[in-house]
Amino acid sequence: MMPIKRNILLNPGPSTTKDSVKYAQLVPDICPREKEFASLMKGLREDLVKIVHGNLEKYTSVLFCGSGTLNIDVCLNSLLPEDKKILVINNGAYSTRAVEICQYYGLPYIELKYPVDKLPNLSEVEKTLLENADIAVVYTTHNETGTGILNPVREIGELAHRYGAIFITDTTSTYAMRPIDIEKDNIDFCMASAQKGLMAFTGLSFVVGNKAVIEKSKYYPKRSYYCNLWLQYDFFERTGEMHFTPPVQTIYATIQAIKEYWAEGEQAKWARHTRVFNAINKGLDELGFKQVIKPEWRAGLVSSAIYPDDSNWSFEAIHDYCYERGFTIYPGKISTTNTFRLCALGAIDEQDIVDFFVVFREALEKTNVAIPVQYNA
Ligand SMILES: *Cc1c(COP(=O)(O)O)cnc(C)c1O
Repeated sequence: MMPIKRNILLNPGPSTTKDSVKYAQLVPDICPREKEFASLMKGLREDLVKIVHGNLEKYTSVLFCGSGTLNIDVCLNSLLPEDKKILVINNGAYSTRAVEICQYYGLPYIELKYPVDKLPNLSEVEKTLLENADIAVVYTTHNETGTGILNPVREIGELAHRYGAIFITDTTSTYAMRPIDIEKDNIDFCMASAQKGLMAFTGLSFVVGNKAVIEKSKYYPKRSYYCNLWLQYDFFERTGEMHFTPPVQTIYATIQAIKEYWAEGEQAKWARHTRVFNAINKGLDELGFKQVIKPEWRAGLVSSAIYPDDSNWSFEAIHDYCYERGFTIYPGKISTTNTFRLCALGAIDEQDIVDFFVVFREALEKTNVAIPVQYNA
């Protein structure tokens, strides 16, 4: 195998991949309607459930062709019974996206909105459930990738179940990184796509969830054709295939990436992401950067640093300097504060972060930004 130039992606996905996964896409042409391909997808669907420790009797996974937002769309439009409401617990950009999806489909919803640097108030969540018996779905984001805050999904799921609702959580930026136990964490549906924790490529997204609920949803109002969970599940169960053309090469790459996931091991992989995350925080601290989320609330995968008050600071200039040297940094996603993000996803380790901070410090020096960086307040 010819090695491919290795870039260190510190953006929140797609993440740095290994050459073995890149090359796994180079396969003989195959029609995805062949039995050989269906059997590959069967194993893949089971592995995706096993990664979150789901019992295959109770949980299944359903594959879709598209980026991760597709999963949010699928879950919200497919899992709401007639005359019921969705409760969205929103403290960031990705739960805001869920609210927008409710608006686009005209789904009845209640939004509990919190500042992006704060955790949701669980007694308010409980009060809302108590006062609105028509809430059938509770929704939130596990790791709000815009800031890196970790939401208490196990507690939220417990509340949802106590009041007879199902719990859907967007785990796109934790799945296959931060360990998840679907049943213990009180999750009915979670989701991710191949380009994040699995360290494969964009094009394959999947929902992991409760089979009995999907079967019930057969009788729920149909609000989308391409993005209906039951339709895709039913087609898979009857034929072993995706309803429409699957992302063939991405599926081969994902299968290779999952082999490597099992070889690395859940705990060892999480320990590696944690090493990378700690190295990112150490580097930011040494340069004097302030962060948006307090340390005890961080999900351990995304650091969100605040722009210094320095007239020489230019995110663009710093980004370009790093980019030319193989490191990609990413702007923030908060409307009230200017931030940039450094993320611990992907096939990288501590040394990559040490190497990054050499380049990053040089970029600050070359652009005459004071070190340690300065803040007015
Ligand atoms: C990346 C991400 C998504 C998906 O975004 P796409 O751009 O559609 O791939 C969804 N939710 C969260 C929390 C994410 O981090």
